[in-house]
Amino acid sequence: MGRGHPESPERLDAIEALFISTGLMQGLQVHEAPAATRDQLGRVHGDDYIDALANAAPRQGRVQLDPDTAMNPHSHEAALRAAGAVVHATDLVLGGEAGNAFCNVRPPGHHACRNRAMGFCLFNNVAVGAAHALEHHGLERIAIVDFDVHHGNGTEDIFSDDPRVLMVSTFQHPFYPHSGVEGRSERMVNVPLAAYSSGPQFRKAVTDEWLPALESFAPEMLFISAGFDAHRDDGMAMLELVEADYDWVTRAMMEVGNRHARGRIVSTLEGGYDLGALARSAERHVRVLASL
Ligand SMILES: [Zn+2]
Repeated sequence: MGRGHPESPERLDAIEALFISTGLMQGLQVHEAPAATRDQLGRVHGDDYIDALANAAPRQGRVQLDPDTAMNPHSHEAALRAAGAVVHATDLVLGGEAGNAFCNVRPPGHHACRNRAMGFCLFNNVAVGAAHALEHHGLERIAIVDFDVHHGNGTEDIFSDDPRVLMVSTFQHPFYPHSGVEGRSERMVNVPLAAYSSGPQFRKAVTDEWLPALESFAPEMLFISAGFDAHRDDGMAMLELVEADYDWVTRAMMEVGNRHARGRIVSTLEGGYDLGALARSAERHVRVLASL
């Protein structure tokens, strides 16, 4: 995204380094992310948008897609593989080769709308994976869980009219991207949190609003938009979650998954910009998912 931009390559390095130094990596299967195919992307993005993004990729230097979102010569390939990772993880989990999966990918995806890049996001990775579970594997009920500090407006844009998808989310409000509180359908369980909310408010939102909706929907599979920018050390926003909150919510989602979805969860990285908090939070999240 450019020098000094918070959505940096060091984010993935920090996570991987902590997974290795804590020994967590030894307990995991590791897979290389394939590029998403045009058909896979086309389930959630318009043909014209897919073409425009390919054509926008510069041979050198950088192009700005919006004030926050840029592409360099490698961005398009990275975005294809970020989306492809979620597809591949979905195949592994639904094929029984993995109990669940975490995609350590960037660029993030949950702000990418059907026909628009924004907020550091090019393709909506979690949506591409969820659509693959629906269209390729024939699942009928998918839940998307989003605890990034920003509202997943792109995911909502893509699935708000799809009765097969329940989205539950928390996010700081009022805050970028200034969506998620109006005109919501009953399958978009968005819970705005005021600045400086911390663990107790977050857990109450999950307990009081997410869990009843998830219980009655009984998803066959869960996807998690795992952004860790609601951490109190993250300078991007003003929520005050800590590692224990990410541990707790991951356990809560695993309980839902075990009850309704045979434990099938695919989680994918969204935000998280303080490298230390990001790595520690992702490590707790994946340690819980892996039961290690
Ligand atoms: Zn975010």
